[in-house]
Amino acid sequence: DRIISANLMMEDQAVELSLRPRYLSEYIGQNQVKENLKVYIEAAKMRNEALDHVLLYGPPGLGKTTLANIIANELGVNLRTTSGPAIERPGDLAALLTNLQEGDVLFIDEIHRLHRTVEEVMYPAMEDSALDIMIGKGPSARSVRLDLPPFTLIGATTRAGLLSAPLRDRFGVVSRLEFYGVEELAFIVARNADTLNVEIFGDAAEEIALRARGTPRIANRLLKRVRDFAQVRGDGIITPEIASEALTRLQVDPRGLDSIDHKMLKAMIQNFRGGPVGLDTIAATIGEESQTIEDVYEPYLLQSGFIQRTPRGRVVTAQAYSHLGLPMPENGK
Ligand code: ADP
Repeated sequence: DRIISANLMMEDQAVELSLRPRYLSEYIGQNQVKENLKVYIEAAKMRNEALDHVLLYGPPGLGKTTLANIIANELGVNLRTTSGPAIERPGDLAALLTNLQEGDVLFIDEIHRLHRTVEEVMYPAMEDSALDIMIGKGPSARSVRLDLPPFTLIGATTRAGLLSAPLRDRFGVVSRLEFYGVEELAFIVARNADTLNVEIFGDAAEEIALRARGTPRIANRLLKRVRDFAQVRGDGIITPEIASEALTRLQVDPRGLDSIDHKMLKAMIQNFRGGPVGLDTIAATIGEESQTIEDVYEPYLLQSGFIQRTPRGRVVTAQAYSHLGLPMPENGK
């Protein structure tokens, strides 16, 4: 697996649990989202009501699950966690919903992967806190409505575009998480080093932040690797030199690109004169799945201006040529 992959890996789990912020005040960045949530949470508590349903979307590793946990924590209610594909039948959802207590949060990760039949059970649950169940079969079948305790659904997705309109419309709060700035990530790295009891120089935290692709999950993973390196090669203190050496060894370049990013950009430049080239063609050329490229790798390359999306395909930017040290082709391309 790629060290700079934003997807959750086995090695992340223990560290993430210990480093996960618990309160909004400890959650760095995403200021707009945080400010809004603070108001909604406060209002719900004052009225003694369940918080409106919340949809969080954005690339993996930016803090959606963390935020769901924080919301439940701030509300002082229980959190139940599941994921879209894990709820196989309407009955599974009914079981989850009937076990909630008043005001509880149900967190569904990858909510765009809910089965259609399950999704239909969700509509009345979200709208009226009610469960419609069919009793009997054939002509004598009838629908019975069960009341549920008011609850908050928090849905998370990397692909808001795949959510059906009726589902999306039932969320009162829709928030998009953005990539983090270098300063925010450096702050997260420094704080987490502290939690892990490692000494780190400010410049070293920044060095890690620069290569973390705007993503706290990657920053935490890089920190963990650099810490190992500092322990084995130095005296345990993360200096800028140690950080830079370790990161170079991990083959993450100073802008957070790894060998597969390089391969993809170079393939686009060498085989397609920098594009435009279609996603599927790129995928086939470098032997990755288009879906993975689109959801996981491309967002950062787009965001940091290494490629652009045009109606005719992806195009490599001048910045990418200069980053790779390659000459731009002649005649304006
Ligand atoms: P997602 O659900 O979006 O994939 P997570 O919520 O699992 O991402 O976040 C991954 C890890 O990144 C968390 O365990 C946490 O340690 C860290 N993290 C995420 N967002 C923040 C934040 N705003 N401040 C500090 N750490 C964060």
